[in-house]
Amino acid sequence: MRAKTKMIHGGITGDEATGAVSVPIYQVSTYKQDSVGNDRGYEYSRTGNPTRHALETVIADLENGEAGFAFGSGMAAITSVMMLLNSNDHVLMTDDVYGGSYRLMTKVLSRFNLEHSFVDTSYPKKVEAAIQENTKALFIETPTNPLLKITDIKKMAEIAKKHDLLLIVDNTFATPYWQQPIDHGADIVLHSATKYIGGHSDVVSGLVVVNSKDLAEKVHFVQNSVGAVLGPQDSWLLMRGIKTLALRMEAIEANSKKIVEFLQNHEQVSSVYYPGIKNHRGHEIAGNQAAGFGGMISFDVGSGEKAAQVLDRVKYFTLAESLGAVESLISVPAKMTHASIPHGRRQELGITDGLIRVSVGIEDVEDLIGDLNEGLK
Ligand SMILES: *Cc1c(COP(=O)(O)O)cnc(C)c1O
Repeated sequence: MRAKTKMIHGGITGDEATGAVSVPIYQVSTYKQDSVGNDRGYEYSRTGNPTRHALETVIADLENGEAGFAFGSGMAAITSVMMLLNSNDHVLMTDDVYGGSYRLMTKVLSRFNLEHSFVDTSYPKKVEAAIQENTKALFIETPTNPLLKITDIKKMAEIAKKHDLLLIVDNTFATPYWQQPIDHGADIVLHSATKYIGGHSDVVSGLVVVNSKDLAEKVHFVQNSVGAVLGPQDSWLLMRGIKTLALRMEAIEANSKKIVEFLQNHEQVSSVYYPGIKNHRGHEIAGNQAAGFGGMISFDVGSGEKAAQVLDRVKYFTLAESLGAVESLISVPAKMTHASIPHGRRQELGITDGLIRVSVGIEDVEDLIGDLNEGLK
């Protein structure tokens, strides 16, 4: 089955009992047992729910994995994956990971002695050099936020294999339509499904896919023990989102290419960050490991004042955090998503005060370009 077909026919579709073409929302917590210890596959909805299970099978299909798991948020998914590790283990992470992942490691899991360090994973040599005796996992994000830095997944898989590390990939930005990290050697792939997979700014959720039966058993054990599961209504919304994921990503990518071209030719814009640009560092790697470059674009307008002015003037780009939806969103990372990072560190990372990030939606691209043009006047 090709990717577009999988989004419609992958996993469990419809309902065996009635022929319903959409998987029903099984709004239920417990299940009647035919006799003691003799259930029909479900006993309690934390352990398993048919609607959630249908979602979990389709995401496993999309990521070419062994099994999928749905959680109440992207952070619940990441936390549950970290629960596979033990205290005094060490996790090596991409230095500009999502802020919530940074906070989880530095402020929460550090209290349980789960060790971490951050490294620029776009340089494989730096990754090898940062591995410690107790390193057990390599956690990467590619492309990253907001500078769209690219990490070579295959190279990371080689390093992980050599040092017996779990390779975990946050695939939120690329989506399972463009990039399937398990095919490149990842052990675990995870998503904030709140973003592109849900795609309509109406559900908070997280998904995990693993590449082996052994990991599937372990993640299910954690999911059932910790209990951060996704409810049936939200599971259904994600399945509905997945059905149009391919179409949305194609439309978003087409719009993004035109917006990048416009920004590159605008005199108020000093630099544009997008993996599809030929001289973007990692452009070739991104082209090899993903079928598309996505819908996240960052660009620099020189100062915080100018950035604020752009955000004040645009009307189709909604000023909001989050990303990956049908509506275009705009933000200033230095003042919003990355405000908690000290100013000096932000400058080091290249997150200047004049940096604007957009998440391109599916509106008419001429309207979007006209909007940015007004903003940049
Ligand atoms: C949003 C996001 C998360 C966290 O997901 P939530 O659904 O908000 O909990 C994790 N990783 C990335 C890359 C994200 O963009």
